[in-house]
Amino acid sequence: MPDCLFCKITDNQIPSATVYEDDTVVAFRDVNPQAPLHVLVVPRAHVATLNDLQPEHDALVGAMFRVAAQIAREHGYAERGYRTVFNCNREAGQTVFHIHLHLLAGRGLAWPPG
Ligand code: 5GP
Ligand code: ZN
Repeated sequence: MPDCLFCKITDNQIPSATVYEDDTVVAFRDVNPQAPLHVLVVPRAHVATLNDLQPEHDALVGAMFRVAAQIAREHGYAERGYRTVFNCNREAGQTVFHIHLHLLAGRGLAWPPG
C-alpha cells in the first residue's frame, strides 16, 4: 500500500531494528519503546485495522502471536511474562493503520491498561 509506513518497513524501504522475519511477518523494535522489550510484529500483507480482518487472515494472525511468543522466549521473558496488544482505531490509540501486534516485556505492566 503506497504511503503506508509499515508496508515501507516490511519492504525494506525504511530501515528498522529487525528481530525476526519470514515470508509472512516482520518483527522490529518500536522506535519509541514503552518497555525494555517493545517489538512490533507486522504482517507483510497490508491490513489497515482489526476491523478489516477476513477469514483468509486467520492463519496470519495465529502466526503473529506465535512469533511474538517466540521472541519473548528468546529474550528470556517466557516465564516472567509479557503482554501482547493490538490497538484498533482512535480510542485504543492506533496511530499506524497497518495492523501490528505489540510485544511488551521487561517491567511490571499495569492492569487495567490506561
Ligand atoms: P499504534 O499506536 O498504532 O498501536 O502503534 C504504532 C507504533 O509504531 C507506536 O508504538 C510507535 O512508536 C511505532 N512507530 C511509529 N513510527 C515508527 C517507525 O518509523 N519505526 C518504528 N520502528 N516504530 C514506529
Ligand atoms: Zn501497510
